[in-house]
Amino acid sequence: MRSKWMVPLAVALSVAAAPAVDAAATFGMTAAASAALSARIGEITAGTARPDTSTLAVSSSDTQAAEPAERPPAKKRKLPKGFVYLDEVIPAAQYDIRYFSDYNFVGARVEGYKAPFAVMTQQAAKALKAVAGDLAAKGYKLVIYDAYRPQKAVDHFIRWSKDPKDQKTKDIFYPDTDKSKLFKLGYLASKSGHSRGSTVDLSIASVETGKLVDMGGSFDFLGPVSAHGAKLANAAHTANRSLLKKAMEKRGFKAYSKEWWHYTLAKEPYPKTYFDFDVE
Ligand SMILES: [Zn+2]
Repeated sequence: MRSKWMVPLAVALSVAAAPAVDAAATFGMTAAASAALSARIGEITAGTARPDTSTLAVSSSDTQAAEPAERPPAKKRKLPKGFVYLDEVIPAAQYDIRYFSDYNFVGARVEGYKAPFAVMTQQAAKALKAVAGDLAAKGYKLVIYDAYRPQKAVDHFIRWSKDPKDQKTKDIFYPDTDKSKLFKLGYLASKSGHSRGSTVDLSIASVETGKLVDMGGSFDFLGPVSAHGAKLANAAHTANRSLLKKAMEKRGFKAYSKEWWHYTLAKEPYPKTYFDFDVE
């Protein structure tokens, strides 16, 4: 059986022109793999391998080349009361914690992510476990990209957005959007629901093949194609987003109109508290 710590090193950017672009470093990406990824991002930025973003909505190339990764560091278990490690509640899910890797729009490990774990409130984790059960019956497993996010990580996003010179991930994550407008457009905010501990970014994959379900655009693609209700050329992509949305709503999560992967527990236990403890 494939360990959940074995992670795809080439996954999930739904771009036909550059199917091998997305080396998603997740759990303990090796230095060599990380260097290769950085080089690849550099290549793309340099224009030598620019993804054809016009195909985002219609292409399908979510490939997975599984390679064993190092085991993750031990958990520090210093979580505040009421929080849990999600992999202990939903061990069958796949964990691809992008902000611990450098495969994210910042292009670097994000502040506050000291280990590749997903942390959530007990209530949100319990609801998500129910979602996982519902979807498992249909042959899918959850793919978790992010859950609780420290305020310092959000602050890191803000600093990044204010540096117009840093455009190294533009071609992958926001090719058609002016970086300085990411806040105004609703893709970034100075306070994130994630910091309240009951919000999750996720997709789904086939249990049988391990392949990501094609949502017609990848996680953290900051553009209109990511919105619910976006006009997608492929009806299957719309149906896939709807499958996830219905499963999440059934168990008490509410969707975010601009990002198909982002859900918040409607009855979240800390609706006004923005936490800042590290993910470790
Ligand atoms: Zn989110």
